[in-house]
Amino acid sequence: MRVARLALCKILFSHLSRMHRPSASRQMSIAAGLKNSSIFQSQGLIGGKWIGAYNGKTLQVNNPSTGEVIADVPLMGRRETNDAISSAYDAFPSWSKLTAAERSRCLRKWYDLIMSHKEELGQLITLEQGKPLKEALGEVSYGASFIEFFAEEAKRVYGDIIPATLDDRRLFVLKQPVGVVGAITPWNFPLAMITRKVGPALACGCTVVVKPSELTPLTALAAAELALQAGIPPGVLNVVMGNAPDIGDALVTSPQVRKISFTGSTAVGKKLMAGVAGTVKRISLELGGNAPCIVFDDADLDVAVKGALAAKFRNSGQTCVCANRVIVQEGIYEKFAAAFSKAVQNLQVGDGFTEGVVQGPLINEAAVQKVESFIQDSISKGAKIILGGKRHSLGMTFYEPTVVTDVRSDMLLAREEVFGPVAPLMRFKTEEEAIRIANDTNAGLAAYIFTNNVQRTWRVSEALEYGLVGVNEGLISTEVAPFGGVKQSGLGREGSKYGMDEYLELKYVCLGDMNRK
Ligand code: ADP
Repeated sequence: MRVARLALCKILFSHLSRMHRPSASRQMSIAAGLKNSSIFQSQGLIGGKWIGAYNGKTLQVNNPSTGEVIADVPLMGRRETNDAISSAYDAFPSWSKLTAAERSRCLRKWYDLIMSHKEELGQLITLEQGKPLKEALGEVSYGASFIEFFAEEAKRVYGDIIPATLDDRRLFVLKQPVGVVGAITPWNFPLAMITRKVGPALACGCTVVVKPSELTPLTALAAAELALQAGIPPGVLNVVMGNAPDIGDALVTSPQVRKISFTGSTAVGKKLMAGVAGTVKRISLELGGNAPCIVFDDADLDVAVKGALAAKFRNSGQTCVCANRVIVQEGIYEKFAAAFSKAVQNLQVGDGFTEGVVQGPLINEAAVQKVESFIQDSISKGAKIILGGKRHSLGMTFYEPTVVTDVRSDMLLAREEVFGPVAPLMRFKTEEEAIRIANDTNAGLAAYIFTNNVQRTWRVSEALEYGLVGVNEGLISTEVAPFGGVKQSGLGREGSKYGMDEYLELKYVCLGDMNRK
């Protein structure tokens, strides 16, 4: 049944999509060009060497827009991960002993190389992840910004001198790198989710084993190749991919790994958190959200529509800070619904390499089926589809940008992350009700509010149980501000000066016998 549907999708796709995608030959030439580029790698990186799986097994990386195989990468597991951990462990003493300025220079050079290969990296992201090229290029700049920022922060890891309680003592606080870090990252930002972890880790003097998503490993490998070209020594940055549970388990249980940093689903995050108990290692988690986007009667309609559109439809709705519930006050509801739907209708869907396209495919069939099941659930409970609501005629995993009204709190669309291009509209009367609806979830990552009332801005921002709040703005992530959630959206913060703390241990040193001459 599923195979037949896929076959049908492919036929539909080839007939209907010519307007929205570049020719197959152009796609092939982009892929071929990338394979010949100096950044392309399709092996794992362990101890500075490009290595296949020890048993020779591979897995395919597909272009979600066409289904074509881009490359085969090693299907690694426990043994390769243990070797990567050993390499990182062996590299730690010398990397952590470099001066901050030396590490900073390596990172800066890595940043420069990423930026000088922006076009190829952007193409690689579009090829394996599907997002429009313009958005992919934006991700390269955003991803690189973490390396640049943490290259600078490397030089600002200050300790403290504490006034002593006894006159013959001096008390110091040193900040030291935690050690080997395991970084597990998702497919929705194939570059930025890696640099946001690796940047501060390396800046602090840690060494890292990265496990990128098996769906998008090529960008990670290209970034690692550039790290080698930047002079980051062998073993400081390692990349393994393949059997996720085995690799995760090796990282979590190894006593040599002192910290796990994970971005991904709440379910896997909870497993990892339970797993690190065995070796009492530190963990930071950046998990799913259920972002409310609250539009008050006093909002500027154009600003609210533009902001909600950006917050909802970026990366086809596949980010953990995407607006998941658009909660609109009754006085502006009808006007907002009409203007928002009009804007959504204009979003061009298609292959990420086609000029003008702003909505790519979803990452895979499972993602589309999830969206379909949420839509089905909402219809069965009385919601109305006013735009979209089905697979796109392009086939494959393209889905129509969708607006659903009459959504209630008991529907899946309001309770869980849809992770697709679906905007559910909910209605509210009072500010208190909006806050109650917004906080009625286990998640607490991003929230958005649209209002022109200064007092309300403060009141609501303070009342929202979220790690990030955008006011009259739908795109708020930046390397200089702390990113992270409360409740079950995670632990710890990434980016900004606070992002360094995740990779540092405090050491208290007490110097006694000071009065001896
Ligand atoms: P998503 O649904 O966004 O893919 P996942 O949590 O499944 O979120 O994936 C995020 C990252 O976690 C990916 O690199 C994936 O391979 C990895 N992963 C999935 N399952 C496990 C696991 N059991 N242990 C460790 N990592 C895992």
